[in-house]
Amino acid sequence: MDLAHERYEELERKILAANSSADAARIRAAFEYANDHHGPQLRKSGEPYIIHPIAVAEIINELELDQDSIVAALLHDCIEDTDSTHDEIARLFGAQVADLVEGVTKLTRMQYTSREDEQMENLRKMFMAMAKDVRVILIKLCDRLHNMRTLQYQSDHKQKEKALETMEVYAPIAHRLGMQKIKWELEDLSLEYLDPVGFHDVQQELDNITSLHAGFLDNMQTHIEERLAEEGVRCKVYGRLKHIYSIYRKMYSQSKTLNEIFDLYAFRVIVEDIPSCYNVLGCIHDMFKPVLGRFKDYIGTPKPNGYQSLHTTVVGRDGIPFEVQIRTWDMHQTAEYGVAAHWKYKQGLANQRLGTERDFEWVRKLLESQQDTDPDEFVRTLRVDLFADEVFVFTPNGDVKSLPAGATPIDFAYAIHSAIGNSMTGARVNGRIVTFETPLKNGDIVEIITSKSAKGPSRDWMKICKSNEARNKIRQWFKKERREENIATGRAMFESELKHVGLTLSSITANSELLDILLRRVRFGALDELYAAIGYGGLSAQKAAGRMKEEMTRLGRLERQRAEQEAMQASVAAGETVYPSTPKDSILTPRRSNSGIIVEGLDNCMVKFSKCCTPVPGDPVVGFITKGYGVSIHRQDCPNADPARRKPEEEGRWVKVAWADNAVGESGYRTSIEISAKDRDGLALDVAMALSTVKVKVNNLSARSQPDGYATIYLELAVRDQKELAGVINKLSQIPGVFLVKRAGG
Ligand code: MN
Repeated sequence: MDLAHERYEELERKILAANSSADAARIRAAFEYANDHHGPQLRKSGEPYIIHPIAVAEIINELELDQDSIVAALLHDCIEDTDSTHDEIARLFGAQVADLVEGVTKLTRMQYTSREDEQMENLRKMFMAMAKDVRVILIKLCDRLHNMRTLQYQSDHKQKEKALETMEVYAPIAHRLGMQKIKWELEDLSLEYLDPVGFHDVQQELDNITSLHAGFLDNMQTHIEERLAEEGVRCKVYGRLKHIYSIYRKMYSQSKTLNEIFDLYAFRVIVEDIPSCYNVLGCIHDMFKPVLGRFKDYIGTPKPNGYQSLHTTVVGRDGIPFEVQIRTWDMHQTAEYGVAAHWKYKQGLANQRLGTERDFEWVRKLLESQQDTDPDEFVRTLRVDLFADEVFVFTPNGDVKSLPAGATPIDFAYAIHSAIGNSMTGARVNGRIVTFETPLKNGDIVEIITSKSAKGPSRDWMKICKSNEARNKIRQWFKKERREENIATGRAMFESELKHVGLTLSSITANSELLDILLRRVRFGALDELYAAIGYGGLSAQKAAGRMKEEMTRLGRLERQRAEQEAMQASVAAGETVYPSTPKDSILTPRRSNSGIIVEGLDNCMVKFSKCCTPVPGDPVVGFITKGYGVSIHRQDCPNADPARRKPEEEGRWVKVAWADNAVGESGYRTSIEISAKDRDGLALDVAMALSTVKVKVNNLSARSQPDGYATIYLELAVRDQKELAGVINKLSQIPGVFLVKRAGG
């Protein structure tokens, strides 16, 4: 038997030992297929290539993943390194396996370059988004783990590159998936290549210190085991040294010496249930002196990636501190294998308390959403779709850009810089020229071709792009750079929309008075401004045309009413009896309004009643558009509203207003009255009495005696409308001595 078959037989034994019902024939077929395809290929170590996929399948088997994952692990390099295809694998081993192999191939083809932190995070996200199925990530992690274990055969350059990639991408992903065991091994293996001196220093120091503590781990383990046995606790105790990278980090990033690291040694006590965890904790604290502030209850409050345990640090009789981690078997599986543990321990999932930190949130959601499905279904549907609304692509320099799903080269160009977008003439994706509409895929390398003589973006781009960023930048360009063109295209778009609503451009522009009214309706001062806004996309032509149509309809109706009224008046003058053909209509169609006022052309705008003339319902009124305080309402006879005194530049800000149907409010309208009278004792009292008989609310009353024997009384009241106010004025006029009652400001 050759080496390949020897190693395979070993693998098969292990698979069957873990799962006696495994389909050995199918797994063997995958091995034979891969072995045939890799043929005489050799690894750098000189071994037949097939040894590598066998080793990866072995690690997958240790994780107790499903059989498709094992088969896919055996085939994982076939598409990349041999003439095998997705279709062929699908035909022989099923679509599931073929998809897994293809997923791994995509990740293999991804190129990484070391970047700043933010870039790395995008890279990790892209990695996971590309995988789609979490098993693809797990196979890729195992692939990398085996490659790291055999990295000594690679060139120096390759070693550094792979080690860095592993430290920055693979180990954090393993951590995120809760797979501590793989994470630790990846970190230690990477460190050995990234900082060989530091690695060996730590290793040396650890050797020194542990030789001083000769037998410490074994003695302590026996000691703990004996005590727990006395207590009748069924458990398993393991002692170990912390992994090198975690000690290295503490020594170098926190500048600690080995003696300052309290948890060089760690013991694990694995028990059968949660109450036993706390029971064991009690025993440990009874046996050894606990270090203050070091106890952590990750059972009550699990770590974000689902990790659960009790942690405590104690000091033994010989003065050596060590950490004790206490957990159940379920928790242990999750701690070691993370998301992979759930294949085996899925049924216990409902009892798991997983964390909520964002990093692990998606896995948690994934797992929770799968709770009610059977384990096979669970595996099949375990999709990594957290990043479904994002797509991650590379710049030619290897920077990662995150764009909305469906993004095109246009979005990409504007995400880099508006100048790139504005001078774009073409795009290459993975080296091939593509159209601007081409949706980008995860991992694509996108290159934008620019030219100084580029004419700038096209209007169609706004429809093609997916990101608001690109759309805004394109709009901005049109607004600034192309006023003339905007006006021309805006005019054409507006004209064609007008046709849709049955209007012509000339019907609108013929009469300048009409045009002003119409422009005010869309809040523009001049036609060109309107056209320009439509041209650059700030206002839709459809909306503008719709508003024009409404306004024309309304004006037409008013015109008809006026004509009818004139005809009626003419008839009355001629002594005929006439009846109005439509219900009584004011200049503005009466409507309801919260402010009690309808402003022509402005719906629900802010309204305030001017203090100078304090109008009340029934008064003829006019509005003035203030800067920032809405429309202020004046009586038409207010001196401030006198057309003769209006400033020409403000003419456009005077608008027609009318009282709404519901203008008569419960709380009333504030208005002011000025009373002139011959001064006498009790005058103010009489005024007050008169006001109380007409039951109006008085807000303020002040009287001033003049030296010449006359008096002026100022009143502020709230009335419902002009009619009520007239009643009040009438009542006040009857008070003896009063010779003039008038409204203020009028
Ligand atoms: Mn491989």
